[in-house]
Amino acid sequence: MDLENDSYSNERSRNDLALRMIRHEARTCTIRECTGLSDDRIRRLYKSYAHELSETPVRRHRGKSPRQVTFFVRNTRTQFESSLLASAFAAFGLLQPAGTQPSIESDDPLDYGRRFCDAYETHQQLLNTQTLSFEHAWFLLRLLNHSGDLRAVRCRHCDSYYLKDKFNLCRHSCPTCRLKRARARCRTKPWKPCSSSRAVMRD
Ligand SMILES: [Zn+2]
Repeated sequence: MDLENDSYSNERSRNDLALRMIRHEARTCTIRECTGLSDDRIRRLYKSYAHELSETPVRRHRGKSPRQVTFFVRNTRTQFESSLLASAFAAFGLLQPAGTQPSIESDDPLDYGRRFCDAYETHQQLLNTQTLSFEHAWFLLRLLNHSGDLRAVRCRHCDSYYLKDKFNLCRHSCPTCRLKRARARCRTKPWKPCSSSRAVMRD
């Protein structure tokens, strides 16, 4: 009886996580990696439940997964969001110390998936609007744990950490400092529409 209960509970946990990831428009391969469910089962979950769980239709992503490191530092706003998300990953124990076996391979995949959703949802709550999709967030965590192309560095102005790609040698201030400076420039020119904030988002 206990075995039956355990089996039911495990199945329920895998379904719950799959549905949670479907709501975030995760790819089938990402859901499979965390839940161990078959592609066919995940497709049936999409069809049976996804539209009932959301007021807006859930999209399924096909094609290539995100794979560009520079996406995360392409402008000030995205670099700010990526750096904030990296902090959420750290808070939920998803960033591995250097030299240790990283990520989902050495962890309980279900628990790893749940903590990833916790971090992503926390990040969503902190920002009114965001440009990072669930799959970009998943790719970012992979980059941080598996590659040295993106790393956290300390801002020499405010001491906070932010993400920087290893190819960019010239930026010495963090996105938060740049956003603050842009807002300060706006406040000094209240009599006309300010383009500084928009410009710093695009730089
Ligand atoms: Zn700074």
